[in-house]
Amino acid sequence: MKVVLQNLTKKFPSRNKKSNDEVIAVNDFNFEIPDGKLIGLLGPSGCGKSTALNLISGLIQPTSGKIFFGDDDVTGLPPENRGVGLVFQSYALYPHLTVRENIMFPLQNLKGAERPSKEEMERRVMEAARLVQIENLMERKPGEMSGGQQQRVAIARAVVKMPRVLLLDEPLSNLDAEEIRRIQRDTGITTVFVTHDQEEAMSISDMIVVMKDGVVQQIGKPQDVYDSPVNLFVSKFLGTPPINVFDGQVKGGKLYIGSEAVLDVPGAADGPVWAGIRPEGFILDENGPFTCDLTGVEVMGRDISVVCGHEKNAGAGAIRAIISAEHRPADGAKQVRFTLKPWKVFLFNHETEERIHFEVK
Ligand code: ADP
Ligand code: MG
Repeated sequence: MKVVLQNLTKKFPSRNKKSNDEVIAVNDFNFEIPDGKLIGLLGPSGCGKSTALNLISGLIQPTSGKIFFGDDDVTGLPPENRGVGLVFQSYALYPHLTVRENIMFPLQNLKGAERPSKEEMERRVMEAARLVQIENLMERKPGEMSGGQQQRVAIARAVVKMPRVLLLDEPLSNLDAEEIRRIQRDTGITTVFVTHDQEEAMSISDMIVVMKDGVVQQIGKPQDVYDSPVNLFVSKFLGTPPINVFDGQVKGGKLYIGSEAVLDVPGAADGPVWAGIRPEGFILDENGPFTCDLTGVEVMGRDISVVCGHEKNAGAGAIRAIISAEHRPADGAKQVRFTLKPWKVFLFNHETEERIHFEVK
């Protein structure tokens, strides 16, 4: 089921009674979610992820904007009439019911023609249980299971009604990302999940949505967003180790970091910039143009992490360059020199922090 979010906005009155300011939890969200895809909604705590999910579910009503499931305008519909399956951070299983009874509960709530026969209910409960691999725990109570098992039950309960859309809020705390991917593939249900864990979201999502302060920053395939972030925030949010950020300067088509011209950046206008360099964008090169102070080498097996300092480092931590373990800085070296891979270097406007493009040769 395709899901269309149109100018979706949610404002809350301030929780601080003394202030009249509203919180714009979701601000003008536009997205056409393709049918049958897995979408990861990510961003720091408080950026509006849960609010966006709750708007899609119908648990809360938008201040303005519309939501469509296929061609149906569902904006005014309550959750039970939208055909959504919901899994919350707290699993909210019924503690006094067995796994079987928990999963069956939504089916027993169906009325009239919608209500399946007893046999059909049993069949669907077992099908859902098999999907999440808990068919051998059917007579247990929630208190007798691990967090991950309880989360599986919650997912089974959410899919047993064959929802049009599956919505998961922070499901990764107790469940592997690959499990979410597999369950989504097996069911083919359009799924939106919320997470603050960029690494896991990147690894399983067909598309990711990066949010900040209620505003969608970028939507795209994980690799595309990683390879071409629209602003400094997105570049910093994705990637482990994180991108290295330097306070730089463009002069005459060259990027300067400190006094060194470290890269040709044809097409970029003169002026101060934030220069983001992915850890894998450095090549150890004794004749390279970019000199950093070597502080350590971390062994990671196939690769090493060359840890450096630089007076123009604008990031929170040390500079990290990921280099193949076949190359190492010379023993006892105090400095290292690098050549940069231009497609791993991003420039951002010093004030707006928006991306500045240059010609990558
Ligand atoms: P996330 O899930 O990304 O952590 P939320 O969607 O829960 O973020 O919250 C987004 C913003 O909206 C936060 O500033 C939060 O304090 C505010 N907010 C969420 N729900 C309410 C509410 N019911 N009343 C007032 N403010 C709220
Ligand atoms: Mg949340």
